[in-house]
Amino acid sequence: MRYFTGPVTRLIEELSRLPGVGPKTAQRLAFFLMNAPPQVAHNLARAMVEARDTIRFCSVCANLTDREICPLCSDPDRDHSLLCVVQEPRDVLAMEKTRGYRGLYHVLQGAINPMNGVGPEDLTIKQLLARLGEGKVKEVILATNPDIEGDATALYLARLIKPLGIKVTRIAHGLPVGAHLEYADEMTLARALDGRREV
Ligand SMILES: [Zn+2]
Repeated sequence: MRYFTGPVTRLIEELSRLPGVGPKTAQRLAFFLMNAPPQVAHNLARAMVEARDTIRFCSVCANLTDREICPLCSDPDRDHSLLCVVQEPRDVLAMEKTRGYRGLYHVLQGAINPMNGVGPEDLTIKQLLARLGEGKVKEVILATNPDIEGDATALYLARLIKPLGIKVTRIAHGLPVGAHLEYADEMTLARALDGRREV
């Protein structure tokens, strides 16, 4: 690696910070960018900076968006009485791919995990309760991951929400135990959603 000049070494270093990119892949990507027309690197750099600087969390559902209120929350054709609670923005994507769900979402930004120091106050639970307080939501579907943290978070939320007189359901465990929502195929996820049970 010594024969690389400073800028290329730095590029390789930065690339290897990305998830799933080891030093070898980082090197391969850097070589690709150095050999491709300058426009390729320029476009990539611009797209990354633009996305990073314009993307924020929706003020209603906490999903990633480039607007104050995301397109899902502001869509009048969605069922605003149905709210699906997920852990991460990528779970919204997974649910949307099933094309069977027409309600809204709430992104917790994680799950309760005392081992890692994540408590309820670190999640968007306060915002969720404020949303439910508006009285439009008739059913909350708890679609946290089917693992220890996801189940504990679902249980915690059910205890908070049920006293509000709102129906609370949990997606069915057709999902393999410990599997993350985002890795479930569309059919399995659609079935888990259809088979949800009141908790
Ligand atoms: Zn939103």
